[in-house]
Amino acid sequence: MSVMQLRAKRVVVAIFVAVNFLSEAPLALGQKVSPVAARREQVQAVVREAYDKFRSDTSGKNADYIPYLAQVDSKLFGVAVVTTDNQTFSLGDIDYSFSIQSISKVFTAALAMEELGADKVFQRIGNEPTGRAFNSVNAVVDMPTHTGNPLVNAGAIATTSLISGQNANEKWNKILNFYGKVAGEKLALIDQVYKSEAATNAGNKALSMLLAKYDRIYADPFESVDIYTKQCSVGVNVVQLARMGATLANNGVNPKTGEKVIKSEDVPYILSVMMMAGLYDGSGGWAWHVGLPAKSGVGGGIVAIAPGKGAIAVFGPRLDEAGNSVKAQRVIEYVARKLDYNLFSPASFGLKAGATQ
Ligand code: GLN
Repeated sequence: MSVMQLRAKRVVVAIFVAVNFLSEAPLALGQKVSPVAARREQVQAVVREAYDKFRSDTSGKNADYIPYLAQVDSKLFGVAVVTTDNQTFSLGDIDYSFSIQSISKVFTAALAMEELGADKVFQRIGNEPTGRAFNSVNAVVDMPTHTGNPLVNAGAIATTSLISGQNANEKWNKILNFYGKVAGEKLALIDQVYKSEAATNAGNKALSMLLAKYDRIYADPFESVDIYTKQCSVGVNVVQLARMGATLANNGVNPKTGEKVIKSEDVPYILSVMMMAGLYDGSGGWAWHVGLPAKSGVGGGIVAIAPGKGAIAVFGPRLDEAGNSVKAQRVIEYVARKLDYNLFSPASFGLKAGATQ
């Protein structure tokens, strides 16, 4: 190689290094994202692959015990990833507002921790999986804590009862505003969902009275059920939901607004609850296959958190037996695998198989 060729080669190498450094620099300086997070193009490609792969999957069926949900178009399908440095990748029916349903339970638990501290929430609600359906009466009777955890209906209604306020309206508005801050956008009640569910929620009322028998509800039982029913009827689109998850992935700071909405110290508790019980009695299988804290709702949404990286939310109304969206589970499993998100895999921290040898 001549001297000129050598010089030219050095210049090319220098430019290559500089370009790479520049593209890494904002992340390194901002420290908003894990250094082992997948790169933009990779996330984009994998989200697209997953969307195409599962788009025509018709397994499962809409929830029908809440009449409104039975008539939601079961073909609706949206996928969104929001990263901790506020990049958004989304595909499909991304503007459709669906009811957040049980995913709300995560954020009311977060609000209760904000108000009371995590220890009190743990004492009053607990964090044990029930191994039963989300609305199980037997779990309330059998479990020593009766409430189980904040993500089954009984525990969630008890968690809602922990939120302070002069009256029901003040409590409800506090919850709604808090969800909006976590989402980085104002959210609203879907009134038709609320009415449909309020007319058919005898089971939840029964759970609340049973909790009262065990002194495990902390405000008026029926008032608490009503606020809980409203929180389940909050509308979100898949991007808003992914951003709510990304706030948890980002240590409680909303990646869009920069507002600190959840105390950092509470984030691991919230994620642990999601890992134990986020997909009800499907949580063990989920931890096995996907390894991410997540939460589902019978409205068809699921959000999963990759701490320090971001969150993925998927909406597809058809559910499995446990009440979890089939499409959402499949898409998230696919994306999590391709992007090394599984928290139980050293690859999620950048240690690839064989790299330690
Ligand atoms: N609002 C629903 C209920 O109380 C929430 C259940 C869910 O999403 N799993 O039954």
